[in-house]
Amino acid sequence: MSEFDLIVIGGGSGGLAAGQRAAEYGARVAVVESHRLGGTCVNVGCVPKKVMWYAADLAEGLRDAPGYGFGVSAGGHDWSQLKEKRDAYILRLNGIYETNLAKRGVTLVRGRARFLDRRTVAVGDARLTAAHIVIATGGQPVVPGIAGSEFGITSDGFFELTEQPRRVAVVGSGYIAVELAGIFAALGSEVSLVLRTGAALKQFDAMLGESMLKILGEEGVRIDTHAVPEKLARTAQGLRLGVRDGRQLGPFDRVLWAIGRASAVSDLCLTRAGVECDADGFIATDKYQVTSTAGVYAIGDVTGRAQLTPVAIAAGRRLSDRLFGGKADRHLDYHNIPTVVFGHPPIGTVGLTERTAREDYGDGNVTVFKSSFLPMYHQFTSRKPRCDMKLVTVGPEQRVVGVHVIGPGADEMMQGFAVAVRMGATKADFDDTVAIHPTAAEELVTMR
Ligand code: FAD
Ligand code: NDP
Repeated sequence: MSEFDLIVIGGGSGGLAAGQRAAEYGARVAVVESHRLGGTCVNVGCVPKKVMWYAADLAEGLRDAPGYGFGVSAGGHDWSQLKEKRDAYILRLNGIYETNLAKRGVTLVRGRARFLDRRTVAVGDARLTAAHIVIATGGQPVVPGIAGSEFGITSDGFFELTEQPRRVAVVGSGYIAVELAGIFAALGSEVSLVLRTGAALKQFDAMLGESMLKILGEEGVRIDTHAVPEKLARTAQGLRLGVRDGRQLGPFDRVLWAIGRASAVSDLCLTRAGVECDADGFIATDKYQVTSTAGVYAIGDVTGRAQLTPVAIAAGRRLSDRLFGGKADRHLDYHNIPTVVFGHPPIGTVGLTERTAREDYGDGNVTVFKSSFLPMYHQFTSRKPRCDMKLVTVGPEQRVVGVHVIGPGADEMMQGFAVAVRMGATKADFDDTVAIHPTAAEELVTMR
């Protein structure tokens, strides 16, 4: 039996952060990981996705270049060459993560962990014990339970593609659907975005999803609305997706399911530790990340809350600050978490949607400021996607509780505005801030 102060199950964003922070305080830490270090974000998430996003951005830039006097065209993209370079980059990152653990004296245990009891974890034949155990096992993509779903791929399969499919259906309406549809389309695939309702990105301010669908449509993406998948069939012409109202969509070379992620808990033997899940299968915790069992914690995607890398990291670090750093009340505040949808164009958003603000504060207490304009960059390009912005304010002092932007640069714009929202800035504070010109962001401090 090996004894530790902390066992972390899962060497992804949250687990590595929790383990390393605890080790910095002098705790004896073991991190158990069954696959590649770095978890979803590094291997099949944020990082390889952003590489593809950059490629797609360049493709758009090349298409726009003639408007700026260049005689270039966007052809000749080599998907497989980029994949090889991307894979090599990620392999380097895996190595860096391993080195970082070693530097901090964290014991890396390779294998699949399962609970034996609330203080003991088994990995193969090894037994590890600790007073504190963190579950940071993340999740995996959901595949619909319909006939032929195995003919489709998920985001994991997207990163395995060695060549670009010519005809693609992306099923789903959230982050992954919008991001991957945008990448495929910018790189030249024929793309259908298949929505089971009439809208996309419904967790965000309605302006963002509406604008995104309009722009994707203008860029040539076919939007199939009210299409509830019922069957996927392989035919001589390609994959055909049958939907509830009888339509047959396709044929496609690839169909990608992007309909959410489920928690990775199935082989953890949680009941032996007395750890309970909520109705959706995510591990329930209190605000200190404590599960239904004292001494057992859950962080990151496995908790189902704000499934984002910086959230997993922040929860993990704060937990270790509390357990080993003497910061008794340290915990993550899940309000005002900024986020970006790396679509084409990107979306940056923080705080309350207009609808939630009206529900929470009452119509009479909410004032909304909007701006819609063609960014200067697109004055010279053949495509004309508009930039849409919204500030949601509450109360007579017009405290800014929501900032929502879709347009070029929205991704890099939002971090600073998130600080302002967190600090309780008012519309007057925004107005009193001198603009940076000429930018799109200046609209946020000049709205009337
Ligand atoms: P993970 O990173 O999933 O790590 C969990 C780890 O636990 C895995 O390595 C797994 O192998 C291991 N594990 C599971 N079970 C066991 C077991 N029993 N024993 C041992 N090890 C186990 N977030 C952003 O903030 N920005 C983005 O741009 C972004 N893009 C994304 C794009 C895609 C396509 C996807 C799928 C996700 C994206 N995310 C993004 C979300 C982000 O990747 C996750 O929120 C983040 O990785 C969650 O970290 P985690 O530590 O909770 O879990
Ligand atoms: P999301 O939760 O964002 O979106 C999935 C959507 O798919 C649902 O909201 C639902 O929308 C639709 N859906 C659900 N079931 C079905 C079904 N059976 N058939 C058709 N549509 C269905 O999940 P994603 O998979 O896009 O991403 C998972 C998580 O990963 C995200 O929530 C996010 O936290 C994280 N992520 C973050 C990124 C970032 O930070 N940039 C990028 C990628 C992922 P509706 O009800 O409208 O039909």
